Amino acid sequence: MIACDVLFVGPHPDDVEMAAAGTILRLVAQGFRCGIVDCTRGEKGSRGSAAERLLEAAAAAKLLGVVARDNLGLADTSVVVDDASTRALVAAIRAAKPRLLFAPVERDVHPDHTAVAQLATRSFFHAGLRNFAPELGAPHRPRLLLRYPGNIPVEPSLAIDISDLVDRKAEVIRCYQSQLAPNDRAHLLQSVDVLERAQARDRFNGMRIGCVAAEPFVIDGPLPLRDLSSLMA
Ligand SMILES: [Zn+2]
Repeated sequence: MIACDVLFVGPHPDDVEMAAAGTILRLVAQGFRCGIVDCTRGEKGSRGSAAERLLEAAAAAKLLGVVARDNLGLADTSVVVDDASTRALVAAIRAAKPRLLFAPVERDVHPDHTAVAQLATRSFFHAGLRNFAPELGAPHRPRLLLRYPGNIPVEPSLAIDISDLVDRKAEVIRCYQSQLAPNDRAHLLQSVDVLERAQARDRFNGMRIGCVAAEPFVIDGPLPLRDLSSLMA
């Protein structure tokens, strides 16, 4: 993983895009370096092989303009929070040295998402500990850990207006052809594909803040502000 300003941690390829493609596109347009670290290759998914999903993830990364996309290679459907997985994510965080870290919320129907949420909590903290695995790099703790929702709605503490990026986000998610299958919905969560789920959530959250579409996030702890000017734009 190479250095970036914002690092997004995803359980499977496509989770980060569904939740935050618009936010990434905005950050990249503003000149910030964004990186993605997927924890698994999605090899146990009902659709698409690991090889196909890696190609799809690479295509999506290119459209997003991220500077790096790595994969920790943890076992899909069997992600556990242990010393090995913690060390893998700590190494990625220390190498990337992000100012902001994004990870899933813990409450989710998919156990891997819950595990990655817990792994992120642990790694966010441990990455900053001088005496935790010093061989994995210099200690670094991002300024903030933000959470994105998976399959269960959250009450967001902030929502990013992506109204002008709706079409580009759809283009990014369409890279995941193996996860879009209008002719056979049997293996899709609630028979809705990844693009439909992302768009329904973004439109709903856009409605909540008075725009066409918005990506919802939750902050762990208080939002640190020096003054209120950034809220008046
Ligand atoms: Zn997932």
